[in-house]
Amino acid sequence: MDTLAVFNPANGTQLAEIPADDLASVAAKAERARTAQPAWRRMPWAERQACIERFRAALERQVDALAATLTAEVGKPIVQARNEIRGLLGRIDFFLAQAQASVADETVFADAGMTERISHDPLGVVANISAWNYPYFVGGNVFVPALLTGNAVLYKPSEFATLTGLEIARLLHEAGVPRDVFVPLVGTGAVGQALLGEHIDGVFFTGSHATGAKIAAAMGPRLVKLQLELGGKDPSYVCEDADVANAAASLADGAMYNTGQSCCSVERIYVHERSHDDFVDAFVAAVRGFKVGDPMDESTYIGPLTRAAQLEVLAEQVADATRRNATLRLGGRRIEQPGNWFEPTVFTEVDHAMTLMREESFGPLIGIQKVQDDAEALECMNDTRYGLTAGVYTPDAARAQALLAQVNAGSVYWNCCDRVSPRLPWSGHGDSGIGLTLSTYGIQTFTRPRAWHLRKA
Ligand code: NDP
Repeated sequence: MDTLAVFNPANGTQLAEIPADDLASVAAKAERARTAQPAWRRMPWAERQACIERFRAALERQVDALAATLTAEVGKPIVQARNEIRGLLGRIDFFLAQAQASVADETVFADAGMTERISHDPLGVVANISAWNYPYFVGGNVFVPALLTGNAVLYKPSEFATLTGLEIARLLHEAGVPRDVFVPLVGTGAVGQALLGEHIDGVFFTGSHATGAKIAAAMGPRLVKLQLELGGKDPSYVCEDADVANAAASLADGAMYNTGQSCCSVERIYVHERSHDDFVDAFVAAVRGFKVGDPMDESTYIGPLTRAAQLEVLAEQVADATRRNATLRLGGRRIEQPGNWFEPTVFTEVDHAMTLMREESFGPLIGIQKVQDDAEALECMNDTRYGLTAGVYTPDAARAQALLAQVNAGSVYWNCCDRVSPRLPWSGHGDSGIGLTLSTYGIQTFTRPRAWHLRKA
């Protein structure tokens, strides 16, 4: 039998070795989900809803133990692990409140002879291929509304967050979701790839652009619904009239939270030349204040990277920036101890020739670039193939509005960053993906509208 070894990224020790899926078991699970889905779909809405309510209650009861598992396998600081699980509770509340109404039948026209109605059928069996950086968030954005609307879910957690994926499956099953309706698949990317070959009705993927592009190519001829939530190189611009201390504190958090491993981490900062030096001083001081260390420690803010391979990416971006005469203000090196550790790192005097300002860093590394005016800031912000989020810091609402309307991004922020709301759609432009999750649109996306043309005889 295939197995998957799980390691603690904080010290390199092996945490578990668990049975993994192979081609035959992936096929068998997909078949069982197909058989089980119609009964789940026919179940009264209130019963499906009750399962999700019980799942929510169990998450809330077990938050400490679940957070400890998450921290052990991905290295997320324990306070942030608890925040993530509690954050999912809020998202579940939104879905519970909105799902049924979002997909309710709607009569859009009626006269004496003719009625036109829209109803929503579930897609059927959907693949939920999930990233490791926020397994509760990015998984829950898909499986909660997918299950509520009557779909079966084949759930492939990242190999780096498999213990958490299995905990999620256990809690859903204990809450009453049938084992063949929410089905975890264990393994590496090869298991995700095998899943794509099965008879499925939708693929909901969260991960890197490189993998997303492979999935899009594989799914092209299949003509099933495909959603890709991919990476970003998210910019923020600090205007000269912004409160420098507030902007620096907010952006330091946005760049370094989750050790910089968020899809919407701030990855590029542009600062008006009149505030640049003050901002840099405040920003570096804020980052210096973050405690780096054991992710199980309550006071730790920055932990290890989840994937060892990312250390090399960061080291290359640092070397490239250094070669091109950027100024290193903080950090810049691996921390030489067991596990995947990298110093929080800040560069200034950067430009877009540097990979640090073009490629996703996905770690505690940030470049701060001086700009002359709003026009230059806007040009820099839009000089990217990604388009997930972008932010502007200024007290001037009209100025922010004008800038944010022109940035190429799915989410825009005024005086904030690195923020996701269940009430708003989460989507990317360009290489940040296609489709969306969250909001009422992110509920309807798990259904197919049926158009009813009803003429009285
Ligand atoms: P990956 O692309 O490496 O992996 C994502 C998932 O796809 C994993 O479950 C992976 O399995 C699986 N997979 C890998 N290869 C294939 C394949 N050929 N076919 C099918 N599935 C496959 O991303 P990460 O997990 O490293 O996540 C980090 C990335 O996700 C970052 O770029 C980040 O920006 C992005 N992200 C985007 C979000 C958004 O909302 N836009 C939210 C969160 C993250 P395995 O891990 O086992 O290899």
